[in-house]
Amino acid sequence: MKTIVGIPASPGIVVAKTFLYMEESLHEIPHYTIQKNATQSEWERFLKAREEAVFDLRALCRQTYQEIPEDQAGILDAHILMLEDPDFHDQIEARLNTNLENIEWAVFAVSHDIKDRILASSDPYLRERAADVSDVASRLIRKLLSVKRVSLADLESDVILVSHDLLPSDVLAMNKKRVKGIVTDSGSRTSHTAILARAFDIPAVLGLSSITREIKEGETLVVNGVSGEVIVNPSKAALAHYRKAASRHRRNASLLRGLRDLPAETLDGRRVSLKANIEVPEEVLPALRCGAEGIGLYRSEFLFLTPGQITGEEEQYQAYRRVLRGMGNLPVTIRTLDIGGDKLLPEPPFFDEKNPLLGWRAIRLSLARPELFKTQLRALLRAAAEGNLSVMFPMISGLEEFEQALAILDEAKSECRQQGQIYAESFAVGAMIEIPAAAMIADILAERADFFSIGTNDLIQYTLAVDRGNEKVGHLAQPSHPAVLRLLKRIIDCAHGQGIPAAMCGELAGDPSATALLLGLGLDEFSMTAQSIPAVKQIIRKVDMESCRSLTKEALACASSQQVSLLIETWMADHFPQGYFNPSAAERLLTF
Ligand code: PEP
Ligand code: MG
Repeated sequence: MKTIVGIPASPGIVVAKTFLYMEESLHEIPHYTIQKNATQSEWERFLKAREEAVFDLRALCRQTYQEIPEDQAGILDAHILMLEDPDFHDQIEARLNTNLENIEWAVFAVSHDIKDRILASSDPYLRERAADVSDVASRLIRKLLSVKRVSLADLESDVILVSHDLLPSDVLAMNKKRVKGIVTDSGSRTSHTAILARAFDIPAVLGLSSITREIKEGETLVVNGVSGEVIVNPSKAALAHYRKAASRHRRNASLLRGLRDLPAETLDGRRVSLKANIEVPEEVLPALRCGAEGIGLYRSEFLFLTPGQITGEEEQYQAYRRVLRGMGNLPVTIRTLDIGGDKLLPEPPFFDEKNPLLGWRAIRLSLARPELFKTQLRALLRAAAEGNLSVMFPMISGLEEFEQALAILDEAKSECRQQGQIYAESFAVGAMIEIPAAAMIADILAERADFFSIGTNDLIQYTLAVDRGNEKVGHLAQPSHPAVLRLLKRIIDCAHGQGIPAAMCGELAGDPSATALLLGLGLDEFSMTAQSIPAVKQIIRKVDMESCRSLTKEALACASSQQVSLLIETWMADHFPQGYFNPSAAERLLTF
């Protein structure tokens, strides 16, 4: 038994045999010179291969549009467009006639050039499209070489798909009933594979570097899409444990899906709002499917985290607009850039910090680079004209920072006006409360902010001096620590003292074992990974405010984390004698 940890990209636990999906044949694309009089027949081979590829894609398109939202199925339309693009044809034909190379190589070389140009672009959305160019080129080359790739559509038994990387069309074409999990060497949370895996509800762990070399076809694998763990050849005991966890997870997830359209309301009528945290616009549809009533945190920095230059105003505007339009009239809160800390840009001057978690991060960086900040604010002001937008600033530590940020927002507004742009004159502006200093002056900040959003991931890290990414001290990051509870109470009370809503967008908001306590503290809005929404809703709908308040009162009187944890465990066992679904409990050390 061996455990390997990668990037948790789509939640859920699965146990199944591996299916190694490798692209061996394309590693050796033949490259040879042809006679001048052979160019015509090579070109005809290309036209035939292209026609067959378009035919296959059209069939796949018809099938896919019935299964998933247009937004994602549109990837296949884009592939057809590329295959039919006269410019693409001209480049291949020119290469064939000039270099006198076989057509497979001409297709490969031209696609490679296009991919390089795309990767050099400053637009991260465009850069993601490089995978589509490879996808189209591989399809064409396979046709030319008459190589039939093992078809993922024909899988007949349940498998965990293991691959170096998956092409978007692989994910769209595969038999989703049979693919129970996905693990890959490459990929990130924002890669296409991750987005599509979440859209199809298939647990996935990506970025495992060399998993394809470490396992063999047919071995048993446990994939834990919440913790990022992949267990190869689990022991009998581990297997039994994870099989149980997996089936419990599936059963509960499907039961909870029935809650989607019901309000998040306690037995005595207290209505709160459950929203989703997202990193990329493509997550909007899966969020709606889980019953999100809005987006409580869009981590806009993910637009910047791929190598390349800073993303410009237009690209940002398009991304924000996509999220707002996708959500219809539902509220969307976009957080301004939270670059730094554990989200360093992969280029200088961002990576030479000695202590990045206490360094040039989030609002500090935005205020130090007003042009960068104003570009983002202009994009937000323009997008706000098209939906229900709120904006919040991350890592606020004092009033001056918040006021400086508001002043720059005013400057951005004047610039929009001068440029004759259509923009929203105002939207709600909130402060993230994730530094103990901000919590201590929450009464002052509440006079200026339109709302608070509590970032417990950082608030716990900074309150308890525990690096959230360091596994040696991870167990010390206890949300149940009395210091954390007292700060939470203070923040929420100060918000309500000024009549503004208190939201929470840290991971704690998505932990159902903390829901009653947070209700008792008076939290108005819970924002979380979309897949946790039904689990939190199940708790809200079965408790009443009086008992939540008395739980909170008792918790606040506890002297240690341990006491708080025990109190909550007992309270939950009393109120939920049949148990309750906690999608993260078995998998992460989040629970009390
Ligand atoms: C937080 O700190 O709780 C938060 C939501 O922000 P992030 O996890 O992106 O730092
Ligand atoms: Mg944070």
